[in-house]
Amino acid sequence: MAPAATAILRETFGFDDFRAGQAEIIEAVSRGENVLAIMPTGGGKSLCYQIPALMGEGLAVVISPLIALMRDQVCALREAGVEAGALTSANSPEETDAVLDAIGAGRLKLLYMAPERLASAAALSLLRRADVRLIAVDEAHCVSEWGHDFRPDYLRIGDLRRALDVPLAAFTATADEQTREEIVARLFQGHAPRIFLRGFDRPNIHLAFAVKNSPRRQILAFAEARRERAGIVYCATRAKTEALARALQEAGHAACHYHGGMEPDARRLVEERFAREDGLIVVATVAFGMGIDKPDIRWVAHADLSKSIESYYQEIGRAGRDGAPAETLTLFGPEDIRLRRAQIDEGLAPPERRAMDHGRLNALLGLAEAQECRRITLLGFFGESAAPCGNCDLCDAPPQLFDATTAVRKALSAALRTGERFGAGHLIDVLTGNATERLRGLGHDALPTFGVGREFSRSEWQGLFRQMMGHDLLRPDPSRHGALRMTEAARPILKGEAAITLRRDTIASIERRPVVRA
Ligand code: ADP
Ligand code: ZN
Repeated sequence: MAPAATAILRETFGFDDFRAGQAEIIEAVSRGENVLAIMPTGGGKSLCYQIPALMGEGLAVVISPLIALMRDQVCALREAGVEAGALTSANSPEETDAVLDAIGAGRLKLLYMAPERLASAAALSLLRRADVRLIAVDEAHCVSEWGHDFRPDYLRIGDLRRALDVPLAAFTATADEQTREEIVARLFQGHAPRIFLRGFDRPNIHLAFAVKNSPRRQILAFAEARRERAGIVYCATRAKTEALARALQEAGHAACHYHGGMEPDARRLVEERFAREDGLIVVATVAFGMGIDKPDIRWVAHADLSKSIESYYQEIGRAGRDGAPAETLTLFGPEDIRLRRAQIDEGLAPPERRAMDHGRLNALLGLAEAQECRRITLLGFFGESAAPCGNCDLCDAPPQLFDATTAVRKALSAALRTGERFGAGHLIDVLTGNATERLRGLGHDALPTFGVGREFSRSEWQGLFRQMMGHDLLRPDPSRHGALRMTEAARPILKGEAAITLRRDTIASIERRPVVRA
């Protein structure tokens, strides 16, 4: 590592040491390599392009989608004595003139630009004339058409790179393979970048999941044990955010709701209150996210399961940015699995993409149904290895496991023998020998599987079906509401070629389990 980088870190930014990954990335960027760095939010990616910009000659252009964050960064850099400026729609004419002067005089080191600016011919010719040495792209996943942050103007970055013919350093917190490939193809266009994937562990965040049985009560209990501490509750629908915020208020908490259906002013008000107040709870859809920069969020709860493991990671990652202990709780149940599967199946994405999305949901369900340390499972998804963390619910209380092969085979054969046309409720009637009128009408009381599962209660079977869905052995049929179909993954178990272990503690008497860690 060139001594210059460490000197800049200390003298300009006032930090003693690099964080995980920073030094290697800075070295590669300052050598002029094309770089794609996948770093978690809060991991410190800004320094990875700011320091190389200050180490070398000329100007670095930073493309970022978040005007407010750009302005904050420019202010902070100027306070540290760095010549930095921004060109965004929020500029006053004087600000723009000052930036243009600084570029003209060759003084400016960092120029922040909103992607919309790339559409302007004037901006492009300005950049052509300036001594640009590096393009840095923040939130590089915005170039992916399939992500929810897609910005069409990001597609212009590739042209800019070609026109200026300088190295490009792209940064994102989104780690999945597909997005990565899209970034490489669209931003680097054949100039394969060096990829850095580092530092995904957030050891101060406690990870916990609980089976959803009474979500309102579970969230209220979790919030109650964290009274006066700032937190976010994520919900899958707008209506739920409003209802849950009201319930929290009635329980005496400072709480408000936030979703994409609110007026921009009302949303801004919530964002400002959250930043300013000490113990506010925001009950929100995922619309509350990108750009929240509050370091002391002490907890994040999910009243509904996220749509993928990346979304989950980003959402819980908003807690504890200051490094102090923070806690999370994610509720999940069969309805969540149904909802998320349906959203994928009913979406407009092409079939390959849908299969990929099911895979990313599977990864999250695997985490929900994990049988060992959650952090090992979570970091494994991001390609990092770990030892048992001591800071998750499964490290706190190791789960009870049992060989569920026989039970799973019974359930699978009940689904097959009834033509894969029924949901868990009916299949449980078959397994437990509950001869309802409907069941007799269908002749299902004559099936060989009728009553073969009496060793488990109804609620235990519900837990088993949830786990089977979580392990993707049974999947809701997109064309027939509620019906469960067996997946290919289940075939070896059905045929007796593979065994399966499930958790006993999340099926047995869920009601009596403490749902919340005090
Ligand atoms: P992100 O990766 O989300 O863009 P930032 O670059 O904003 O993260 O950095 C997150 C926080 O970490 C900032 O407050 C930043 O000042 C701080 N930070 C970054 N690098 C270091 C470091 N080496 N030592 C201490 N703090 C750091
Ligand atoms: Zn653990």
